[in-house]
Amino acid sequence: MISYKKFVCCALLSGFAIFYWCIAALAAAPQYDLILKGGHVIDPANHIDQIMDVAVADHRVAAVKKDIPDSEAKKVVDVTGYYVTPGLIDIHVHVSNGGTPLDWFTPNSRHREVPEGIMTDIPLDSGVTTMVDAGTSGANDFIQEMMKVTDHSQVRVLSWLNIVENGMFSGLEQDPDNMNPKRCAQIINEFPNLIVGIKTAHYGAGINLNSPPTPWAGIDDAIACGQLTHRPVMVDTSPVPGRSYADIITKRLRPGDVHTHVFAQQFPIILPNGKVNPIMWEARARGVVFDVGYGSASFWWRDAAPAIQQGFMPDSISTDLHLGNIQELSLTSVMSQFLIMGETLKEVIQQTTVNPAEEIHHPELGTLSPGSDADIAVLQLLHGNFCYHDDGNARMCGNSKLTNVLTVRDGAILYDPSGLSMVDWQHARPQYFGHCPETARMIRGRRRCSSAADNFPRHITNYEGLGSPFPLEPWLQVPGNLGNNPPGVPHPPDLTRQYHSPFPDHPRAQPLANPKDVYPVQEQSSDSEHGQQ
Ligand SMILES: [Zn+2]
Repeated sequence: MISYKKFVCCALLSGFAIFYWCIAALAAAPQYDLILKGGHVIDPANHIDQIMDVAVADHRVAAVKKDIPDSEAKKVVDVTGYYVTPGLIDIHVHVSNGGTPLDWFTPNSRHREVPEGIMTDIPLDSGVTTMVDAGTSGANDFIQEMMKVTDHSQVRVLSWLNIVENGMFSGLEQDPDNMNPKRCAQIINEFPNLIVGIKTAHYGAGINLNSPPTPWAGIDDAIACGQLTHRPVMVDTSPVPGRSYADIITKRLRPGDVHTHVFAQQFPIILPNGKVNPIMWEARARGVVFDVGYGSASFWWRDAAPAIQQGFMPDSISTDLHLGNIQELSLTSVMSQFLIMGETLKEVIQQTTVNPAEEIHHPELGTLSPGSDADIAVLQLLHGNFCYHDDGNARMCGNSKLTNVLTVRDGAILYDPSGLSMVDWQHARPQYFGHCPETARMIRGRRRCSSAADNFPRHITNYEGLGSPFPLEPWLQVPGNLGNNPPGVPHPPDLTRQYHSPFPDHPRAQPLANPKDVYPVQEQSSDSEHGQQ
């Protein structure tokens, strides 16, 4: 029979054994969810430009270093021969409709046409993990945009708020009465995490380039809202009599304000002698930011190529994607065009990561710094003969083409068309072949398990927050309604407010018989500021 002394001794020894077994097991457990192994990392924010491994854990970048052992991750993806960069940032895209329902009564409204905006997750195929809507909506339809699009996107969607209250498709872009800096500031203050700045677009342009009666209204009202909210302004403008390009960029815009569409045909970027206009250098020295905003009519080789050759490069590269150009345009195709004009790969990565992050005042984005959101692009640089066209139907050829092969957003692999992160089917786990393990959950008497070849996340389902610093806005946390917020929860703006129509006599310029049919109406309460001009 075992003595008491021996029993205690055995118990202690077994305890120690279990303790050490646990420690050993913990030490052996992979500490990372994912390693992207052997790629050439370009992370301009951290001055990294060499072959390294990138490790992801718990939705965040955990380490960027050489030779991380495979055993330390649940999943290892060999990205040898590819470039690994922070998830790309496109600060000029269009999502949502760009008009409020009331704009049906405005003769110039384009709200009845096909929606302006693209499906937000499409640019994942270019490695884009953050996009900024460029003023498709204004104060009166921002909430529509957010509820219909932004809150349901796997890509992070931020916004420039249009100074035109009813948005870009409202037919009111030329109406200064629909520009209200205080109302603009009110909405920005309600959604400070989502709105990065203010957009003014098309004002006084496209009307035979005659100057409107108040040529500076759009820019000045946008800047006034920018001053109220300490945010930059993005301008899509044209020089007209009384509003020269030199005055716009060397006098009116503030340091940090962004001129998008910089290489559009209407700007005197290149002088007749072929030199870059000195006002470009002067404005850059003042801190004015120049963004590409490629679009359907805003990029011309004759402006861009000589500028790049002379060292005047854009601060940021963006697409101006909308439904009218999504068939041909992507961020990687625009980046490729800057490569064939002479920029280096490192420069175009800088112009799509750290630079735009700084421009929108979100320095936590566009970097692979450990602790940042695991937003990553894996790019391939092809060498051969590749041609591209500009918006003036002119062609330029070169030997570079940049494509994206894999996109990680918030730690999940959301784009991988070639199966770079997947196993050959013959080596898939048993579930793939229909063998559910004994340990799988029983649901209604049946054993259930995923039949995918692995269990790595390839979709984001918890849209609310996405592990990012953008939690759901407080009033939206009230389940399912616009109108019954408890005291203390901010109200959404009154979407049924009537605007001053510039076309009061038009037969369609009548209010809805019952706006409640369109939106649930919120009773105005203590917050008397809401919904008033
Ligand atoms: Zn645009």
